[in-house]
Amino acid sequence: TGTSVRLDNASVVFLNVIRALDGVSLEIKAGETVGVVGESGSGKSTLCRLLVGLTLPTGGDAQIMGQSVKTALKTDRKAFRRQIQMLMQDAVATLSPRITIGGLMMEAVAIHGLDRQETEARIHTLLERLRLPVSILDRYPHEISGGQARRVGVIRALLLRPSVLVADEPTAGLDVSVQGELLNLLLEFQREMNLTFVMVSHNLHVIKRVTQRTIVMYLGQIVEDAPTATLFKHPAHPYSTTLLSTNPLLSAGGASNAIILQGEVPSNAKPPSGCRFHTRCPVAQPTCSKTMPELTRTEAGSLVRCHFPYSLALPGAHQDT
Ligand code: SF4
Ligand code: MG
Repeated sequence: TGTSVRLDNASVVFLNVIRALDGVSLEIKAGETVGVVGESGSGKSTLCRLLVGLTLPTGGDAQIMGQSVKTALKTDRKAFRRQIQMLMQDAVATLSPRITIGGLMMEAVAIHGLDRQETEARIHTLLERLRLPVSILDRYPHEISGGQARRVGVIRALLLRPSVLVADEPTAGLDVSVQGELLNLLLEFQREMNLTFVMVSHNLHVIKRVTQRTIVMYLGQIVEDAPTATLFKHPAHPYSTTLLSTNPLLSAGGASNAIILQGEVPSNAKPPSGCRFHTRCPVAQPTCSKTMPELTRTEAGSLVRCHFPYSLALPGAHQDT
């Protein structure tokens, strides 16, 4: 299995001042499932948009399947778009109100020159798998539910047989039961198609259940990149620890053990000196405001950007598990 996605020191700067992403480097292997977590403003959505070529890096490089995104969009835009699909946060809003669901699906046939009959057959198979009635093809976007719209989005993305699927909060706003069903289906397709699956979610349960690897972001930087099981047991970065601790079902001690961060999230336009988390970190030391830590590999195999990794333990965590 080769490299599917690669970012080399990629930055995205808006309006010359807002560093939405700052020097992000990562490599994702084909077929890997990766979760991305962090508060709003951490750069999660920008990272997704970068991976699918909706945003271009203003510094560094983004490569998909060995090809620079910038070059791919110039030379072979359609082929690039086919390989990498995105499930949008607000699927309903992205559907055109005057085109039926069937019309929308067949757009892909026209745009990408797919075989019509083969595509129709595939649409029917996918409808069945996603438990959507065939009659939905004749409906308009406003005539279907939010959960249905989300599944229509999945069909549209999978029709093109992509190599990479990027999902920004794919289950947000859905009922818990519908969420679970959609996630199971996404995982099924991920395995069958050996999809590289990158998912942003606020829901740490979802991340824990679906992904093999988790990337934690803070103010435009990766602060931890670790196997999901390792991260949830032994977070190395104090920010990761606080994120996990605020989730009563994940922290062994329950809600009473939540570590509440002091202060506001600093602005991306004026990030703190040294470690960007030092203004809120419960275990900050004098050196933290002076020197920015590099992303460094720990013995447990996690990458962490902190001068004092593992210095903030998860409350109630069992040392021996
Ligand atoms: Fe906290 Fe210092 Fe580590 Fe930053 S480098 S997370 S301030 S301990
Ligand atoms: Mg967002």
